[in-house]
Amino acid sequence: MTQDELQALRSDFPILAEKVYGKDLIYLDNAATTQKPRCVVEKMADAYYRYNANIHRGVHRLSQVATEANEQARDEAARFLHAGHRHEIIFTRGATEAINLVAFSYGEAFCHEGDEVVVTVMEHHSNLVPWQMLCERKGMKLRVAPMNEAGELDLPALYALLNERTRMVAVAHVSNVLGTVNPVREIIAKAHARGIPVLVDGAQSAPHMEVDVEALDADFYVFSGHKVYGPTGIGVLYGKERWLDAMPPYQGGGEMVGTVTFERTTYNELPFKFEAGTPDYIGSVALAEALRYVQRIWLTRIAAHEDALLRHATRRLLEVDGIRLIGTAREKGAVVSFLVGSIHPYDLGMLLDKQGVAVRTGHHCAQPLVDSLGIPGTVRASFALYNTMDEVDRFVEAVKRAAAMLQ
Ligand code: PLP
Repeated sequence: MTQDELQALRSDFPILAEKVYGKDLIYLDNAATTQKPRCVVEKMADAYYRYNANIHRGVHRLSQVATEANEQARDEAARFLHAGHRHEIIFTRGATEAINLVAFSYGEAFCHEGDEVVVTVMEHHSNLVPWQMLCERKGMKLRVAPMNEAGELDLPALYALLNERTRMVAVAHVSNVLGTVNPVREIIAKAHARGIPVLVDGAQSAPHMEVDVEALDADFYVFSGHKVYGPTGIGVLYGKERWLDAMPPYQGGGEMVGTVTFERTTYNELPFKFEAGTPDYIGSVALAEALRYVQRIWLTRIAAHEDALLRHATRRLLEVDGIRLIGTAREKGAVVSFLVGSIHPYDLGMLLDKQGVAVRTGHHCAQPLVDSLGIPGTVRASFALYNTMDEVDRFVEAVKRAAAMLQ
């Protein structure tokens, strides 16, 4: 990406011109949520101003327009993930709801006492707690795959956990704490060899790399719109038709039904069976705009740019006295977690904030991972398509200043 292209892209994001405590904002909390380009916000306003009406229900023109826009958004999401069928795309509130949907609904259909679910030590709470809840509900066992010191999954140990009782492997594509890119394609192939389906938590991969769910052969893949430059409150569950068809509804309500009597209710076909109630049809339309936005830039170029930022940040951070990088896998996404000496991550984060640098501190919703490392948490900088090398340099200088004050 040339400097001119990058500056042009940055001007799509009005918030990047904001000041924080009188300083230029350097926004490095993109793994938590990304900023929104103007086209996404304008798309929402346009939908509200011109064709807001509840979808699927109206005979009137506005409702038809809104319904079409929502269904076109589904097509866009299917294209984005290279899904085989549009009805394999379920709109949810985000990655969390998508995983809860699968854990509940797949669990109801396919899991029994004594069965097992395999997760990994680096899962976000969203891809851990729903499975724990399933295990509690059904009397099942949660098995946890370990990792090595660099933060790479111990694959032989993971594969050794797979057996005839395993009903699901749930794994992050990219760790939100360590940045590790997990070899999900290989994991899926190994699980499938034993007839076990795999859910891929794509919250940290969808914004940063081209994802092809069919090439991966993922059974389920989830992501959140707000991490892909889209609005909050909307996300996607991709599921293979054969699983979704066999799974019962997650919630009951309007639109997910066929016919309803007091005696018996039949359910709607896919994808509507899993979309009870008024969906976030404004969110879906804006999400589609965000997906078109990243595809116009090309995800491969975004990935290359973010990789350059990550390498530069890693190199420069190593200049800081007492730095300890947490997560040094060979394959890493746009995340760098670190500690400096014995400084508490929260204190460092506070002083970075005062210098206009937005980072995240703490356990990043992966408390078991952080506990297993015996650390109080990390400071995490995470990059997006609009970050610059200059911002990385200013961030590192800010870390040095903060560390000098605290040490
Ligand atoms: N999974 C991972 C790896 C994440 O990083 C996150 C959010 O940070 C989630 C799941 C949950 O996403 P959301 O809160 O948007 O549902």
